[in-house]
Amino acid sequence: MAALPDFTLHRPATAVEATALLVAHPDARILAGGTDLLKNLRNGLGSPSALVDVSGIAGFSTIAADGAGGLVLGAGVTLATLAADAAIAQAFPALAEAAAAVAAPAHRSVATLGGNLFVDTRCAYYNQSEWWRRANAYCLKHRGDTCHVAPQGKHCYAAYCGDVAPALLVLGASVDLVGPEGPRRLPLEQLHVDDGAHPFTLRPAELVTAIRIPPPPPGARSGYRKSRIRGAIDFPLAGVAASVAVREGRLTRLAVALTGTNSRPFLLEGTDALLGTALDDADLAALSKLVHKQAGPKRTTLVGAHYRRLVAAALASRLVAMLATGSR
Ligand code: SF4
Repeated sequence: MAALPDFTLHRPATAVEATALLVAHPDARILAGGTDLLKNLRNGLGSPSALVDVSGIAGFSTIAADGAGGLVLGAGVTLATLAADAAIAQAFPALAEAAAAVAAPAHRSVATLGGNLFVDTRCAYYNQSEWWRRANAYCLKHRGDTCHVAPQGKHCYAAYCGDVAPALLVLGASVDLVGPEGPRRLPLEQLHVDDGAHPFTLRPAELVTAIRIPPPPPGARSGYRKSRIRGAIDFPLAGVAASVAVREGRLTRLAVALTGTNSRPFLLEGTDALLGTALDDADLAALSKLVHKQAGPKRTTLVGAHYRRLVAAALASRLVAMLATGSR
């Protein structure tokens, strides 16, 4: 792997200071754990003049109760911390399971919650060395003008592959942001868009400082499952999170979110139609159908797109059935 390009490293002590640095260096990249960014820079995917290391920002790595049964998680909390937190495992198991499913232990010990939300979209034609991409005339997402997955169009279909975002989506999370125009709060659903080349809605010089999770609805159970090529360390070919509640044998809550299949993590639409059902085989088949329709994997991995769609549907119906029966 090639050496890192030259850059100036900045270590701000506050989020406001970090924002000022991002304004002063418009091509700067935000650095936290660096597990995704540094590898991409070594592959020649960008050459920023500056990196703004946000890991020293006060309060960036704290976990606090919000006073109403929910949590406020600093964007710099490591995935290892999330995966090992007994209170999170108890109240928000989908988040603990998703954090534990990211890469390998060494990555999780430095990789952060905020960093995983902003993991770059991935494609077999993009996550390659500089010389490999140069030999293939690059591609639309970086330095080229043709998409090798869909050469007729001008859209990038690189897949979003963060594991924690779908878990946070089914838990109803929101994100706290700080930018040159001050702080703002955004539902997590609005942080990503379905564009592999430009998948985030952050404004210039903005950064995420915290993630807020509301208290779990009464009786709700949640979980996360993923399929990957190498069980010990890999991005999801498809990942599914779900939050389910059942009362007197009838479904009273169903939220399902996907990752790894589209250019953004997303909440499955149409699940309300299953509320009130006993979640029998026909209901689970209907759920699978929703996944089939809305998951849109393309030829961005070495594994076939149709297989990933089938896997996403199977993961969703199995996880929801398991959560509904309490047989985790
Ligand atoms: Fe490049 Fe197309 Fe892959 Fe996007 S989907 S990274 S444009 S080859």
